[in-house]
Amino acid sequence: MGMPAKDTARLREKPTPGATIPGRMDIPRWLSHVGRRLSGPTGIYSLMEDLGQALERGSPETIMMGGGNPGHVPAAEAVWRRRLGEMLAEPGLVEATLGDYDGPQGRRRFLVAVAEFFRRQCGWDIGPEHVTVTTGSQTGSFMLLNLIAGDDRETGRQRRVLFPIVPEYIGYADQLLCDGGLVGRRPLIEERGPHRFKYHVDFGGLSLDDDLAAVCLSRPTNPSTNVVAHDELERLSEETRRVGALLIVDNAYGLPIPGIVFPPTPMPAWRDHMVMTFSLSKLGLPATRTGIVIGAPELVRRLAAMTAVVGLANPSIGQAIVEPLLRSDEILGLCRDHIRPFYAARCQQTLEWIDELMGSDVAYAVHEPEGAFFLWLWLPRLSISDRELYARLKARGVLVVPGSYFFAGLDQEWTHARQCLRISYGQPPERVRRGIELLAEEARKAQRV
Ligand code: PLP
Repeated sequence: MGMPAKDTARLREKPTPGATIPGRMDIPRWLSHVGRRLSGPTGIYSLMEDLGQALERGSPETIMMGGGNPGHVPAAEAVWRRRLGEMLAEPGLVEATLGDYDGPQGRRRFLVAVAEFFRRQCGWDIGPEHVTVTTGSQTGSFMLLNLIAGDDRETGRQRRVLFPIVPEYIGYADQLLCDGGLVGRRPLIEERGPHRFKYHVDFGGLSLDDDLAAVCLSRPTNPSTNVVAHDELERLSEETRRVGALLIVDNAYGLPIPGIVFPPTPMPAWRDHMVMTFSLSKLGLPATRTGIVIGAPELVRRLAAMTAVVGLANPSIGQAIVEPLLRSDEILGLCRDHIRPFYAARCQQTLEWIDELMGSDVAYAVHEPEGAFFLWLWLPRLSISDRELYARLKARGVLVVPGSYFFAGLDQEWTHARQCLRISYGQPPERVRRGIELLAEEARKAQRV
């Protein structure tokens, strides 16, 4: 049913000067400070817009190496189909899954299955009171970061979250409702051969203090794929505990599920100041919007309370699909035998194409690929900004993510931040190869001599 013509005309009207902030015709008077931050031109919005448009148009010309949509792994898709069939056959399950709100913490039987899975597989001493579901990890980190960072009314001081290795996940950058609550630290860069490098935590430059609410990192890190080494994580955990802060580890691509980690890496031991976040998205279920947070019961209870305020409850469908796969440990075999090998093979192939197509005349280095499903490319002789290179590639039908979006929280300019791109390789291989060809051409043209 269409809108009456008068109403649509009103929607098209230009805002009158009185409806905008004096001197800023582009900012409506009704927009709050927080509203401006959340609805402004953020990196994550641009990335998700690119992704949505490319997938919706199904445009054969666009080569989607930008947003982090998982690839379509046939063995995983077969399991989801099978599970949907089993769910249809189980009396009352579809009705309960679609027709009932869950409690804000999540479905009790899912919470129990998650806790038992981690007890069994990782030796973590946790129960369902340590687990909460969130509407995707993205919403989970929004709630978590705002739960812990910001002004502390008791002390008048500001509690901050520190990223020990920046570049760090683009999706955190605009999530805090307070100003200045995110701080980042540059990593040390280890050069490994002519075309590879690796980031390390610079413990000398961390300077953790009592105002710290948490240290937060994704592992593998989005965008670099860096898997912070076990001993570095242990040291971070110890130093974080010493100042009374939390250690947040975002395992969206990590262990044990979906387990897209290439070097052999042990699971960390459970500690009470840890907050471990997981997601069903990179298993291949992003549309179910299911995140999982494991933390101390007090933190979990507060996150569940926030879920009620923000959204009442979480989607149930992902929990229902995955619960029996956790109970039987089938999920581990799926990750080990299909999901990880799928991305490891794509990664290897993409790396070979980069080395072949960049040739000897483009100065480039790729971060040691340690997991996830993208590569982090550094072009140290780039004569234009990463955003300009992104725009040139977009004009040629190739979508990547400009690297500078991933450098939130640094207090000083860093040239490196304008010389990197993140390129995803989850799409069909022939398209990825064509994308690299075009990327190599543009990188060559944009190189300082
Ligand atoms: N954390 C990291 C490191 C990510 O890369 C992503 C998505 O790409 C997320 C969290 C959010 O994932 P979701 O909200 O789909 O669970």
